[in-house]
Amino acid sequence: MSEILVLCEHRRGALREVSFELLALGRRLAGGERAVCALLLGHGAAVLGEKLCAAADRVLLVEDAGLDAYDAEPYLAALEAVILARRPALLLVAHSAVGMDLAPALAARAGLPLVTDCLDVQLAQGALEVVRRELAGKVGARLRLAAAGTHLVTVRPGCFPAAPQGGKAAAVERLPAPDRGSRRGRRLLGYADLALGDVDISAAPVLVAVGRGVGKPENLAAVESFARAVGATLCCSRPVADKGWLPKSRQVGTSGSVVKPKLYLAFGISGAYQHVAGMRQAETIIAVNKDPSAPIFEVAHYGIAADMFEVLPALQARLTRAS
Ligand SMILES: Cc1cc2nc3c(=O)[nH]c(=O)nc-3n(C[C@H](O)[C@H](O)[C@H](O)COP(=O)(O)OP(=O)(O)OC[C@H]3O[C@@H](n4cnc5c(N)ncnc54)[C@H](O)[C@@H]3O)c2cc1C
Repeated sequence: MSEILVLCEHRRGALREVSFELLALGRRLAGGERAVCALLLGHGAAVLGEKLCAAADRVLLVEDAGLDAYDAEPYLAALEAVILARRPALLLVAHSAVGMDLAPALAARAGLPLVTDCLDVQLAQGALEVVRRELAGKVGARLRLAAAGTHLVTVRPGCFPAAPQGGKAAAVERLPAPDRGSRRGRRLLGYADLALGDVDISAAPVLVAVGRGVGKPENLAAVESFARAVGATLCCSRPVADKGWLPKSRQVGTSGSVVKPKLYLAFGISGAYQHVAGMRQAETIIAVNKDPSAPIFEVAHYGIAADMFEVLPALQARLTRAS
């Protein structure tokens, strides 16, 4: 039975968390009946391959100087060669900047059916089913994919818990490097770091998040005071950062930071998927929104359908009394 391949991303010598999320998804889909192979393209990347050994049945390593950092041309050549040689049932790729650039070109080049930005992937009666958002996130769609040799699926980061790292199970198997004959039209000059700003919200154990429901910047004081009182770090949805009410470094979501705190308290946030993708992995989510049908309640473990300005002082009094 053909295998499931997971393209594992790395940057600046470190594996990206999404690689382990996709390996966990691969394991779930394999159901113990197919091999799950971590596919790593790089240069001097054997040490990264070792780190994938516990999460995959096999680690396939393609090494070449041109694969040191992501570069579409050599990556495409390497991936096409691996797919033609192994004919996997499925190739899972992150819906990241790399995956968005790579997957459509690979699908066209290797003639693979492609479905992008999936929030879930399942096997139903032997067929692949995916869940994705359509019409700018307004509609959730479940699609059943027709049988094909190899499916190419990109999966949104943050949708699955990561497979455990460390330990050693699989062996690292080296595959031949791609032909370097093709001319490279571009090369990576370097990485530009975004300023982290005043705090790193991705490292905070407790986050209080504020959305457009706060109404106006003067109202932020109440949320800030609450965050301070409960020892939380303040973060926000995109409109709050776009308006300049809080720095961009505090924004959670697909175009902000992905956070995984122990506790995430969301005030006046509707729960658009671009926001939810950045916080759904929080251990406990408490949402306050005056609209009981707000989508944030679909991901919240506890929900309060009420005016946040009534809830804030009551919750603050209760939490500070309890501690
Ligand atoms: C390419 C792209 C990338 C994006 N990236 C991000 C991103 O990284 N992060 C992000 O957050 N968004 C992102 N967005 C925007 C996203 O689509 C939503 O527009 C945004 O998340 C909505 O923010 P919000 O929930 O604060 O505001 P709204 O959707 O306006 O929701 C405000 C909520 O507050 C509630 N409310 C109002 N008053 C009160 C009150 N007094 N008490 C309680 N509740 C109240 C309302 O019922 C409503 O549900 C992106 C969009 C695009 C197109």
